[in-house]
Amino acid sequence: MIKTKCLRKTYHLGGTDIHALDGVDLHIPKGQFVAICGASGSGKTTLMNMLGGLDQPDGGSVEVDGHDIARLSHNALARFRNESVGFVFQHFNLLARRTAVSNVLLPLEYRRPKPGDHKKRACRALNDVGLGDRTAHRPAELSGGQQQRVAIARALVGEPRLLLADEPTGALDSQTSAELLELLVRLSQQGLTIVLITHDKEVAAYARRVITMSDGKIVSDQMNTEANTKLAS
Ligand code: ADP
Ligand code: MG
Repeated sequence: MIKTKCLRKTYHLGGTDIHALDGVDLHIPKGQFVAICGASGSGKTTLMNMLGGLDQPDGGSVEVDGHDIARLSHNALARFRNESVGFVFQHFNLLARRTAVSNVLLPLEYRRPKPGDHKKRACRALNDVGLGDRTAHRPAELSGGQQQRVAIARALVGEPRLLLADEPTGALDSQTSAELLELLVRLSQQGLTIVLITHDKEVAAYARRVITMSDGKIVSDQMNTEANTKLAS
């Protein structure tokens, strides 16, 4: 699903070079649930932006779901982001004036042609994350955990092949955060490829594989044999 080779990204800031990504080689097979761990500033978000086609590398290559990201035209890239990838962020990024269902159907509104059943699909996506009875609520009328579920429904409504989540539990309490992670585990069991970015080891423990970054490099890559045991208990 994901293949990067010697991926580099350097920011130039006030005369110094910051190697946000310093030669990242990464291979993630379809259906894997991977956590990318590492201290603040280690390059996690930069890596996620490359995988999701939100930013272009300075060197190396990145292939996601068969697309060579660096070679896509502006339009093809927009289409790739809309169709192949679902994004979830720390602060939910919902539109305050729209209802839950209207937030969720947003990605489908950008599709050409726009699917005629977009409302139905959005309701189904909300139902899948346990919010079938909250479709008409606005973000301010929902708890943090519910808002993040709406964001996940929005990420999944277009049936992406890859879910990229950057610190999705960063603004949630531990109980809510555990429920959300259990939802991600279930989604991965249904075949979705998930890349979860976190600086929190407890959060990473839900993933099958834990990759640790430091100074723009991968410094460890381990299978987590105890993943999902939290669900059984
Ligand atoms: P993380 O998500 O692991 O906290 P980031 O990928 O956001 O790390 O950042 C990696 C490094 O690149 C940091 O040192 C950060 O300060 C730097 N950086 C990120 N984005 C920019 C930018 N737009 N301009 C300059 N430096 C940046
Ligand atoms: Mg970050």
